[in-house]
Amino acid sequence: MNPEQQIKQLREELREHNYKYYVLDEPTISDFEFDQKLKQLQDLEAAHPEFFDANSPSVRVGGEVTKNFDTVVHEFRMYSLDNSYSKEDLLDWEKRITKLIEGKIQYTCELKYDGASISLTYENGKLVSAVTRGDGFQGDDVTANVRTIKSVPLQLKGDYPEKFSIRGEIILPFDGFEKMNLERIDIGEEPYRNPRNTASGSLKLQDSSEVARRPLECLLYSLKANRLPIATQFEGLQKAREWGFKVPEVARLCNSIDEVLEFINYWDVHRHDMPYETDGVVVKVNSLQQQEELGYTAKSPRWSIAYKFKAESAVTTLNKITYQVGRTGAITPVANLEPVQLAGTVVKRASLHNADQIAKLDVREGDRVFVEKGGEIIPKITGVDLNMRAAGSSPTSYITHCPECGTPLERQEGEAQHYCPNSEGCPPQIIGRIQHYISRKAMDIEGLGGETVALLVENGLIGNYADLYDLTVEQVIPLERMAEKSARNLVNGIEASKQIPFERVLFALGIRYVGETVAKKLARYFKSIDALMAASEDELVSVDEIGERIAQSILDFFSSEENKITVARLKNYGVQLEMSAEKLANQTDKLKGSTFVVSGVFETVSRTELKKLIEDNGGKVSGSISGKTSYVVAGENMGPSKRTKAEGLGVPIISEADFLEMIS
Ligand code: AMP
Ligand code: ZN
Repeated sequence: MNPEQQIKQLREELREHNYKYYVLDEPTISDFEFDQKLKQLQDLEAAHPEFFDANSPSVRVGGEVTKNFDTVVHEFRMYSLDNSYSKEDLLDWEKRITKLIEGKIQYTCELKYDGASISLTYENGKLVSAVTRGDGFQGDDVTANVRTIKSVPLQLKGDYPEKFSIRGEIILPFDGFEKMNLERIDIGEEPYRNPRNTASGSLKLQDSSEVARRPLECLLYSLKANRLPIATQFEGLQKAREWGFKVPEVARLCNSIDEVLEFINYWDVHRHDMPYETDGVVVKVNSLQQQEELGYTAKSPRWSIAYKFKAESAVTTLNKITYQVGRTGAITPVANLEPVQLAGTVVKRASLHNADQIAKLDVREGDRVFVEKGGEIIPKITGVDLNMRAAGSSPTSYITHCPECGTPLERQEGEAQHYCPNSEGCPPQIIGRIQHYISRKAMDIEGLGGETVALLVENGLIGNYADLYDLTVEQVIPLERMAEKSARNLVNGIEASKQIPFERVLFALGIRYVGETVAKKLARYFKSIDALMAASEDELVSVDEIGERIAQSILDFFSSEENKITVARLKNYGVQLEMSAEKLANQTDKLKGSTFVVSGVFETVSRTELKKLIEDNGGKVSGSISGKTSYVVAGENMGPSKRTKAEGLGVPIISEADFLEMIS
């Protein structure tokens, strides 16, 4: 097989496996095998850039950066839906439409998915654009980001029309949302409030590889084209499914409004079993012919109506407000409730967010409170039943001292959260930092878990992560549930962590706001902890994507004597505190201060490699041409609009050979 055939075959195979995994939920190969095939494809594509395809399964990992999203006019307007909240509303709607059209009416019922609406356009079976709803007339072109969402087919199958659009909702399933939040908490960031906002926020991220990492899904519900090979909405759903789209199976064809009500009643209860948020049912007249007769009002189709579920809420007693201390010292107030049944689960705790929230609601211990479960994982308190308030109750006074160590709390200007500043002596902070240090994405220490860390701290064996490297097998064995073998594993695991690369060590240090990505950027730029520690605020903010907030946090971290000592100790133990020689050998500053835009297809390197070369040599890669662009590296088939723009702005256009010359 020649490379072209090989690439073609791999793309087809991967496409099929993607489909089985992300659309059907029925994988037939292991993740490992999948990754291997993907790697094989990426290597081949890198070696043969002439076969570049924007819809290759390899684009799922992202990489394209969009600074400004282009505004695109929708070919078919994206309408809102009228809402109804009761059986009566729905019967009124039925009455209205039966007056307007002849004949029997069938309805398609679907769940109303709560995410961000999107319009995908396909030509000859290939995804050509993805646009947000915007104001309904025009939205933002977020194609590069949407390509990374695995359940969006990039290449269709079957008897699809030559050109059409399909509408859907980009959502974030509960479990993925929860996982993302655990990671956020891990880097000392506030968790995201709810899946819907997080999903729509994700679409507007500039770096598509960040989007690729988020477990987004795309659920489809409606076809649009000048001519469609279908006569009904329900048929449209079936067809879309055949072409490779993820269309939830719960949709049902109903012969009467009574059947519609049955569907609604069923899902009002069972929606809580769904893996994602749904906030109602969308009822649509099934026949497209009848839809056309009914037409639209100024804002919404007459042929469809949304039935909104009532937000699940319950009333219960707030027994006590307690306060949690996180790894970074952030204080979170928690409402401990009289257990109450809500949306299918028993709720005992609810988040109160911060002092302002408590003051705003004027919530007090002993109050009867309203608890709601929206898209959030942790239920929230939405109000107080003032009629039930006990006489003589007094307003909640927020704690002034840390509940764990007694230190007076601090609150920075403009921040909602209180902090315990005693980072060196406050037990949950000490334990939390070491737990973060050993976690999978940081030092990934085998044989050591979070509970053991707590045990080690409580027994006075360690007080910070540098102490780990002094631990001996003999010290560990006497601990509860520790056998000799596990003690040995633990010590070996700690030893092995000395090989973990600098960028991950930097992340493991637990500097506030320095997550994985920022740690990578800093490591690449400064190359060693010494250089980072010596950097001024100005130098820090000159690094791409490092703002004042992060810079200040880094300065604070290294201004602490204790942290300086810890870092020096880590260095002595042999932990990697600089970039390895091998990595360094490939890096230069030759392109420092220059911003590049890459366009077209290249001969000797792939686009990804080219971008990496730019970054390795100290340059910046940008997605769109602007006054700040230093050079456009043009390959074959460079987009004509890019060329015009570059010429207009006087940005030099250089060839692949020119570029390689620059860095040689
Ligand atoms: P609204 O934003 O309240 O006017 O509701 C209209 C929105 O509901 C549409 O723009 C879609 O984004 C969303 N939606 C969710 N699920 C569906 C569905 N099954 N059919 C139609 N629209 C839906
Ligand atoms: Zn404390």
